[in-house]
Amino acid sequence: MVDMKVFDLCCGNDHRFEGWFGSEADYDHQMAASLIECPLCASRDIRRLPSAPRLNLSQASAPAPVAPQPQPVARAGEARAQLQELWMQMARRIVENTEDVGTRFAEEARKIHYQEAEERAIRGVATAEETAALADEGIEVLSLPLPPALKGPLQ
Ligand SMILES: [Zn+2]
Repeated sequence: MVDMKVFDLCCGNDHRFEGWFGSEADYDHQMAASLIECPLCASRDIRRLPSAPRLNLSQASAPAPVAPQPQPVARAGEARAQLQELWMQMARRIVENTEDVGTRFAEEARKIHYQEAEERAIRGVATAEETAALADEGIEVLSLPLPPALKGPLQ
């Protein structure tokens, strides 16, 4: 078992370092004989810093944590605008990659499911009853409110 004393030391040039000693007496002896030198500048003008729990010390030397800023109210609207933009991008992709079958949606979805029509992504409108009926038949459909701006013909 090794029982070492670790002291926080500081030289005349304000370099902080740790000194490891066999005992407090060992430290006193080395100090009196000027045997301790700064590892950075070799200064022998050494003083001992008041010992502090290591955890506190490292916290003290770390940059102060930035206090969390309260979210300004204006950011909320900005975030919503960003979200809306993302949603518009996604909706645009859906529109670009699906065939608009309008009110024939349930009929087409069923045809595709039973392989009576070419497999493709479609979009359209369906009543709640139609959607429920499709679900009963194991035809999964996704209900997404498309932005009105994208409902018209593209370009
Ligand atoms: Zn130094």
